[in-house]
Amino acid sequence: MKDIDIAQQATLKPIQHIADKLGLPDDALHPFGCHKAKVDLTYLKTLEHKSDGKLVLVTGITPTPAGEGKTTTTVGLTDALNRLGHATSACLREPSLGPCFGMKGGAAGGGYAQVVPMEDINLHFTGDFHAISTAHNLLSALIDNHIHWGNELEFDQRRIVWRRVMDMNDRALRQITCALGGPNNGFPRQDGFDITVASEVMAIFCLARDIKDLEHRLGNIVVGYRRDNTPITAKQLNAPGPMSVLLKEALAPNLVQTLEHNPAFVHGGPFANIAHGCNSVIATRTALKLSDYVVTEAGFGADLGAEKFIDIKCRSAGLSPDVAVIVATVRALKMHGGVAKEALDTENIEAVRAGCDNLVRHIDNMKQFGVPVLVAINQFVTDSEAELAVIREISESSGVRAELCSHWSDGGAGTEALALQVLELTQSETSTSCHALYDNSESLWDKVRTLATRLYGAADITADQKIRNHLTMLEETGYGNLPVCIAKTQYSFSTDPTLKGAPSGHTIPIREVHLSAGAGFVVVVCGDIMTMPGLPRDPAANRIRLNDQGNVEGLF
Ligand code: ADP
Ligand code: MG
Repeated sequence: MKDIDIAQQATLKPIQHIADKLGLPDDALHPFGCHKAKVDLTYLKTLEHKSDGKLVLVTGITPTPAGEGKTTTTVGLTDALNRLGHATSACLREPSLGPCFGMKGGAAGGGYAQVVPMEDINLHFTGDFHAISTAHNLLSALIDNHIHWGNELEFDQRRIVWRRVMDMNDRALRQITCALGGPNNGFPRQDGFDITVASEVMAIFCLARDIKDLEHRLGNIVVGYRRDNTPITAKQLNAPGPMSVLLKEALAPNLVQTLEHNPAFVHGGPFANIAHGCNSVIATRTALKLSDYVVTEAGFGADLGAEKFIDIKCRSAGLSPDVAVIVATVRALKMHGGVAKEALDTENIEAVRAGCDNLVRHIDNMKQFGVPVLVAINQFVTDSEAELAVIREISESSGVRAELCSHWSDGGAGTEALALQVLELTQSETSTSCHALYDNSESLWDKVRTLATRLYGAADITADQKIRNHLTMLEETGYGNLPVCIAKTQYSFSTDPTLKGAPSGHTIPIREVHLSAGAGFVVVVCGDIMTMPGLPRDPAANRIRLNDQGNVEGLF
């Protein structure tokens, strides 16, 4: 059965029932229809004295086209912990519309481990992305308007770094010329669109602790430079006030349910390359106040997703994961071991063994953060006993337990073994001390170098003089103490997406550097990163339609 069929056949509980499980009073819930709600931000303020539950981070091996199942495992583990009697919530990102109509399909889990209502979550949901796009584009409009009326701030129109956004894959808008058509329409200049999830407003939205912090961060956005290269901020355009007004409803976290009627917060969805790739701090903190356990996912493999989760999100929000679960599959490890996608259904023990180099590198990496690690083997029907045994054996020789998880076919019951391990690791007396991998006081160069050499297995990093000057300029203008956000291919520890497994000794070239002063990081681009995706030749949109009953078909 397809994911959408399972989701559509599910009987959902009213959202009030899910809120009751969390102990939320009626007036703290703002329902959107019957199965979605936002949790009131003023109510959340009253929870501050409460202690936090345990935080479980779900991350993964290096992604392959074979699929790994981090979202699915996050949902499965949430259901399993609830089955074992522990009040647990999931925290996930909101999906973007672009990939939904392109290649990726839905992003609300899969099989019997999904969050529902699946179509709503994948489509407009509660309108958060609309609010974020609008706030972003308001700032764009304010910039051009400011220039039109005399350019008092002295923008160099060739150095405006704030583009426009929309939540759609549309390559035709990547580079445009705006303000054509004469003096009434402003001054023509080059511009372009990014997808909403790549907006710095999205990253800020996800890192903000509350509405005041949101407004403060919005003010820090650097939108452009003068001819003397001094930065101009959103605050100088008086933008944070109206932008916060547009975002205030959206900032309240969204509550939905898993197929087994457990709470799931789905809120915010920043890119995992040029941003930090995890759901909002507000949702995670809310969930931690209302549950004993919170299971959350970070995008891409652990080298990118978990690293940013800890070095950026947790550091900024004062959070700390109590355990990290690395999701691996036989199929993906086979691909890391050199098997082509077409041959994945055939047993190949040696390829799994070879591919485990990738898993072991991620295990060792996570240990460097001081967080206890578990491996979740997300089971596919094609897996053989002998292949599974190899993963267990190799994980155990790295000092880590690997548990077979069948939530995709069995729901939470299939992932209880993993849940028991999570309980054991988080209830043991040995206190964990998760820590960032680098100190923010180090130079930007040293921070990137630390990540490259300690996580990616690289020998060194390189950059042209132009990039080095840019880094120096950022340090001289007071941005040197920000963490770095690496944008590189998610398909390899190197910058070459075809280098699978666990390459080492390579160099990581820095190609570009961008300041996200509002979000509070410096984006270091190592490779080609697309901030406005395109649609494939045969987009998923070709199959998405309403059937005679008015139900959505073709989302998967
Ligand atoms: P990630 O979060 O790592 O990108 P997802 O959990 O979203 O991965 O899963 C990606 C896709 O793979 C989904 O469509 C899901 O239904 C499918 N999938 C995940 N686990 C399994 C499995 N065990 N068997 C078959 N398909 C699976
Ligand atoms: Mg996912």
